[in-house]
Amino acid sequence: PACEPAAWEPLRAASAVPDRPFLFANLDTLADLDTLDPAVVDGVGLVRTEFLLTSAAEALSEERHLAVYRRVLDHLAGKPVTLRMLDLGGDKALPGLTEGDPAGVLGTRGVRFLLAHPDLARIQARGLIRAAAHGPVSVLLPMVTLPAELAAMALLFDEEAVRLARQGIEGRRPPLGIMVEVPAAALTLDLFGQAAFFSVGSNDLMQYLAAAARDNPAVAPLYAGAETAMFRLLDLICAAARALGRPVSLCGDLAAEPAAVGRLLALGLDGLSVAPRRLPALRAALGAAFPALPPGRA
Ligand code: PEP
Ligand code: MG
Repeated sequence: PACEPAAWEPLRAASAVPDRPFLFANLDTLADLDTLDPAVVDGVGLVRTEFLLTSAAEALSEERHLAVYRRVLDHLAGKPVTLRMLDLGGDKALPGLTEGDPAGVLGTRGVRFLLAHPDLARIQARGLIRAAAHGPVSVLLPMVTLPAELAAMALLFDEEAVRLARQGIEGRRPPLGIMVEVPAAALTLDLFGQAAFFSVGSNDLMQYLAAAARDNPAVAPLYAGAETAMFRLLDLICAAARALGRPVSLCGDLAAEPAAVGRLLALGLDGLSVAPRRLPALRAALGAAFPALPPGRA
């Protein structure tokens, strides 16, 4: 690969069952750490940082970013952690920051919001680069539509890594991956060679495929019915990631649906990431598919 690999890629060689997908946890709050035994996972596949930093003052504090990321890294004790940059806008508001931006799920959200607020993006990037000196960190960009958005964020990380080094502050430029949750990106994944890894956000991808809001009960049957379209697209996503030689995992709620797990495994996904409370069921489904799985371990 042209870029540094995702922090979890080197684990593969050390795995007792090399072809099994990695089992990761999603974290929404620091309190979720209390519910996660790091021994039963390969790492953290998604930290929703927009829920960790709950005020504008926190989101604009580089030291606060560093502190919360270090708490996650310390808990995981050396296992890889995938930190997603702030996914603000759309349905996720942060008082003091998100007012006045064209919101809505088709508006300035995710990486669009970060690129529209470069001061905020630089503060978070610096916190992430500094955290990466303390453990195996990968960074995920939410809501990427075009390769230019990834290129712009990669440049921002390069610049802040150089700036930190000049300031004599310890840091490490982490590998950058993208959430695959916008259909235009999913259908052009071959153009995202700059990404170190991919993570499918099935919650948003299904909502955009079906043009049915993920939280609107009136269109819930349409959202659920888009699963057929979703699996066809997943097939393309996995093939494109393989052709690029990049790992691809899935961190949406689909990974926690027992009925879907078999089909997800058949696609050859490299990892599945679910909320801590969903881990036992997923662990059981994985154990059924991979009988050689060591007992008590992921
Ligand atoms: C998703 O969209 O599937 C996802 C994992 O991210 P979020 O639910 O935070 O939008
Ligand atoms: Mg999403």
